[in-house]
Amino acid sequence: MSCTANGVAAALRAAAKVVAEHRAELVELDRAIGDGDHGENLNRGFAAIVASLDAAVPDTPGAVLKLAATTLISKVGGAAGPLYGTAFLRASTAVGNASELDAAAVVAGLRAALEGVQARGKAVEGDKTMVDALLPAVAAAEKGTDVASVLQAAAEAAARGAESTVDLVARKGRASYLGERSAGHLDPGARSTSLLLGAFAEAAR
Ligand code: ADP
Ligand code: MG
Ligand code: MG
Repeated sequence: MSCTANGVAAALRAAAKVVAEHRAELVELDRAIGDGDHGENLNRGFAAIVASLDAAVPDTPGAVLKLAATTLISKVGGAAGPLYGTAFLRASTAVGNASELDAAAVVAGLRAALEGVQARGKAVEGDKTMVDALLPAVAAAEKGTDVASVLQAAAEAAARGAESTVDLVARKGRASYLGERSAGHLDPGARSTSLLLGAFAEAAR
């Protein structure tokens, strides 16, 4: 896949498919330490992104990312909608109006996404949130040499980062209301970040 507007649109379609396939799993994870809506929230948002892309694919990768951002912000409530919306919006701004993204642009987009999530949600590493998947993903992405290897490295690091949330006590979001009882459960947002990056990596292969 080349990282053109159509390539980014294909990656978002792949992500929507993975989110739909894992909707019930994300609901279960969120039921254990939250309010059980994470799978529905994300599935609704990504289905809406696909519907928008079906109508028209914007001209540039940045514009496609911006469409994803505005859709997530308007269709997905709770914590994750604004956080993922901010992530895609910052990524969109970071890649500018280039017609095709190279590895450096993809890394810059991922880094901007992380910075957006942290600016908005104030979570740091170890708080048992999506940051625990996204932060190591960005660090690993920087070692990639082309778009496919950047996304592959990011996806693998995100999967490990998500697993690391099991042992953590939540300090941000709904799960933090449980205190120590949040330990022993995978964080739903970290899991969804890992799923999204996995889908992007697969699409870029
Ligand atoms: P809500 O908790 O409002 O129902 P979701 O269930 O859709 O929202 O999303 C929950 C996920 O959002 C958590 O698993 C966590 O990864 C993420 N999250 C919550 N608060 C924050 C935050 N302040 N910073 C980063 N991520 C957060
Ligand atoms: Mg929830
Ligand atoms: Mg909720």
